Amino acid sequence: MSIDLSKMPKLGFGLMRLPETNGSIDIEHVCKMVDAYMNAGMNYFDTAYVYHGGKSEVAAREALVKRYPRDSFMLATKLPAWEIRKESDIDRIFNEQLERAGVDYFDLYLLHSIEDGNNYEVYEKYDCFSWGMKMKEEGKIKHLGFSYHGSPELLTQVLDKHPETEFVQIQLNYLDRSNPVVRSQKLYDILAERNIPIIVMEPVRGGMLADLGAEINGKFKAKRADKSVASWALRFVGTLPGVMTILSGMSNEEQMADNISTFTDFEPLDDSEMQLIDEITADILKVPQIGCTACKYCTPGCPMKISIPDVFRTVNTLRRYPDDWRAKNFYNGVASRGGRAGDCIGCGQCEGVCPQHLPIIELLKEASGILD
Ligand code: SF4
Ligand code: SF4
Repeated sequence: MSIDLSKMPKLGFGLMRLPETNGSIDIEHVCKMVDAYMNAGMNYFDTAYVYHGGKSEVAAREALVKRYPRDSFMLATKLPAWEIRKESDIDRIFNEQLERAGVDYFDLYLLHSIEDGNNYEVYEKYDCFSWGMKMKEEGKIKHLGFSYHGSPELLTQVLDKHPETEFVQIQLNYLDRSNPVVRSQKLYDILAERNIPIIVMEPVRGGMLADLGAEINGKFKAKRADKSVASWALRFVGTLPGVMTILSGMSNEEQMADNISTFTDFEPLDDSEMQLIDEITADILKVPQIGCTACKYCTPGCPMKISIPDVFRTVNTLRRYPDDWRAKNFYNGVASRGGRAGDCIGCGQCEGVCPQHLPIIELLKEASGILD
């Protein structure tokens, strides 16, 4: 049975950037966000085995599963290729996910981060699509799909080989349309042409498109004083045909309230607004930015405890505003809690897991030159 698109809310709650207190997920705070989201009539939650070091699925149990009837929400999670060493690991991980989340089925289940090379090879080696179909037959998964970070060529190949794919999750936002690594537009075109429902991740590019500096923010505000800067990024993807649901990794109630307001009586972008997005994209691209989405896949395994996305955030700010003392203070705070950019020993762990394929070691050398 294919996904009933009428039941999918346009805004999905991504559980990868939940609020934390003293290094642990703040469940009380998450409960308030879940309540606000559910009260707005929306009910799609996206977690993964690896989010928050394995604690995001548990947070879903505490803040959602224990507090709402099972048929009132949809919960999605993902199988991590990089944790699979042998066939039996797949069932072990899946059973652990059911237990962590406190459910006996997942509404949507994804093979996490298919990309050229390692991950896709693992999913094929262990025949994970057939395994997913078996879980569907057993009622433990309602719908099977994958999240995708690879090339357009591989996407076509995977879809040809696996017509059982019911949906695909891709990174899509107005800035990455022309990004030569992400190639969002091409990925979108392939899926739209095949009528495969699209779930969008990183619509605000890890928060970057929520605050673009006074000048660009001002252009958005001059056009629509009533709309937040982040809302433009969400409205852009929400306007595209074929987009089923847009995930936002919300971290506080303010973001939640702003996003709910964007998707309540949703207003697609009109032609003049789309033109403004094109102009602003060109403005942003004048200053090259490190394409880090702050997904934090790279940080748990860093032996030097470098907060890589925070370092890149600082560099991006300084590339645009070289004298910004607040950015330097921010970096010094981050570095005092972990490693400095210059502490990198070049082990390559981070580059192996970065879905944006960033040359992290080289970028940290640049960062160290500016910051250390
Ligand atoms: S290459 Fe550097 S930043 Fe990356 S994991 Fe190793 S030490 Fe950490
Ligand atoms: S460097 Fe890559 S893996 Fe690390 S947070 Fe940024 S995008 Fe994610």
